[in-house]
Amino acid sequence: MSGLLLIISGPSGVGKTTITHQVERELQAEFSVSITTRAKAMGDKDGLDYHFVSQGEFNKARDNNELLEWAEVYPGLSYGTPRKPVEEALTQGKLVILEIDVDGAMQVKEKIPQAFSIFVLPPNESVLLDRLTARGRDDHSAIQRRFAKAKREIIKAWESGVYDEFIVNRDLSHTVKEAVSLVSKRRDNATLFT
Ligand code: 5GP
Repeated sequence: MSGLLLIISGPSGVGKTTITHQVERELQAEFSVSITTRAKAMGDKDGLDYHFVSQGEFNKARDNNELLEWAEVYPGLSYGTPRKPVEEALTQGKLVILEIDVDGAMQVKEKIPQAFSIFVLPPNESVLLDRLTARGRDDHSAIQRRFAKAKREIIKAWESGVYDEFIVNRDLSHTVKEAVSLVSKRRDNATLFT
């Protein structure tokens, strides 16, 4: 039996990490831990949230074809999905969650068209800016950079045609329920036709 690959994307500050981990718990899924060259931030757990690597280590993994996808999400900051753990979990029939950006989602969909992809939207721009500011993780320039990137990311997501579903995160528990229900439906359909 082969599993299901779930892609969850959304702009920074939309709440997608919380949503991802709640969906992971509810559906006993496996979260794919990416490698990244960005610095470890407060609250980040090495090996759980990311594997923090040097640029040299990242390049080596990329050049050895060890990544299912990768992207330079911010200038000079690269992120990538280690291929092996994903393939192994899928072979074991598991639901595997990738929390990646639109560039990464495009690469994955090209390689694995059966992957199911959800893009999480904020209710509106000002809510997004408020959330980016309120989480207190970044300084002013980082917040502005993330906000500008977030707006570009939403447009790119629409234009890419890569997403199966767009959901608006107005209320966290409702959004999680919606995501769980969409994924469950997709899983049931996949079982019916295999
Ligand atoms: P953050 O630095 O806020 O944790 O993540 C920044 C962005 O990088 C988020 O949009 C997140 O979805 C994306 N990201 C995290 N891991 C990966 C990955 O392995 N590949 C790609 N393409 N994007 C990733």
